[in-house]
Amino acid sequence: MSKYEVKDVVCDYGVYQDGELKLILNSRRIAEQIVSLLKEDEQKHRELNPVKDYPSYLDRPKMTDKKKRKYFRKCGECGERHEQSEMIRTDQSDNGWLCAECYEELNPCIDTEWA
Ligand SMILES: [Zn+2]
Repeated sequence: MSKYEVKDVVCDYGVYQDGELKLILNSRRIAEQIVSLLKEDEQKHRELNPVKDYPSYLDRPKMTDKKKRKYFRKCGECGERHEQSEMIRTDQSDNGWLCAECYEELNPCIDTEWA
């Protein structure tokens, strides 16, 4: 996004974009009107291109990525890796983790018990 500003240029007024002199005018009022038009135009452009021009929008997926970071555990029985939420913490395996399948195999009554 460009930063527009009006600064004094000797006895005239300069319109600056990102600190670079773009236009010199002898009327501060006109210079300020041009800047407000440029800002308005940029605002419209941003509304039409929200993904490209909104830094905050681009930051958002990063935050959800952080929250959604997945931890994988290795099943102590079959050795398969699964997301921690799908794993069962148990002392029935060497490393303390079992996948749902192995847990069911080692605990065949679990379904009927929990039904
Ligand atoms: Zn397993």
